[in-house]
Amino acid sequence: MAIPIKSARDAEHMRQSCRAVAEILEHLKAFVQPGVTTREVDLLAGRLIAERGGKSPFLNYKGFPGHICISVNEEVVHGIGGSRRIQFGDIVTVDCGIILNGWVGDGATTIPVGEVRPDIMRLLDATQEALAAGIAQARPGKRVGHISNAIERCVHKYGYAIVKDFVGHGVGRRLHEEPHIPNYGRPSDGPELKPGMTLAIEPMVNMGRPEVRLLADNWTAVTLDGKPSAHFEHTVLVTEGEPEILTCLTTTESKLKEP
Ligand code: MG
Ligand code: MG
Repeated sequence: MAIPIKSARDAEHMRQSCRAVAEILEHLKAFVQPGVTTREVDLLAGRLIAERGGKSPFLNYKGFPGHICISVNEEVVHGIGGSRRIQFGDIVTVDCGIILNGWVGDGATTIPVGEVRPDIMRLLDATQEALAAGIAQARPGKRVGHISNAIERCVHKYGYAIVKDFVGHGVGRRLHEEPHIPNYGRPSDGPELKPGMTLAIEPMVNMGRPEVRLLADNWTAVTLDGKPSAHFEHTVLVTEGEPEILTCLTTTESKLKEP
């Protein structure tokens, strides 16, 4: 189990790491344009991480070769930057982490490139709404299962499918800590949430079927049916009261917006 953050100093370090992730994601959102290769996005992310004095927690993780995960359209997660050129109408998921002062931040966003089909924009909106619904449950006295269940109900309301092969997680001193945070389940599932816990909440939602398969690179997960997939992630601090969203740029953004 991840040890809840106890000191104000540790919490501030965690905020710094997560704010750096949010800043880098903002830069990458502006850079992701038609004609750019996914490798160029990865290399820019590597420079932005280094400029902040940080390290990528993904690079060399179990041999992962990129600074970030970059996944286009039917790619669900863990895509590797390469020669694929981003096209008008694509959706591009950028999953970025940083290790700063020994603390890890983790966040992801799916970026629409140019004009994206309305049904695909609806998938993105639904996934963001599911993330917000999950974050709203990140309060002391609730269980991990409350987060999971809120995400699942939101995704099913839209008629989309939840990817079950990958889950959210505790994050802090290390990228992946306990508890696992599935994007489905019962409210009674999992451990109770306590103030000081930092959680990476990250629904991965498929437009079609929930099944995924791995490409030959052994990393990139794609939808089995080839339909698009979306992924949004925030690192969230459980407090005595409202959850604090850490992977954002301002204190205004750190507060949960009630739907
Ligand atoms: Mg991530
Ligand atoms: Mg994560």
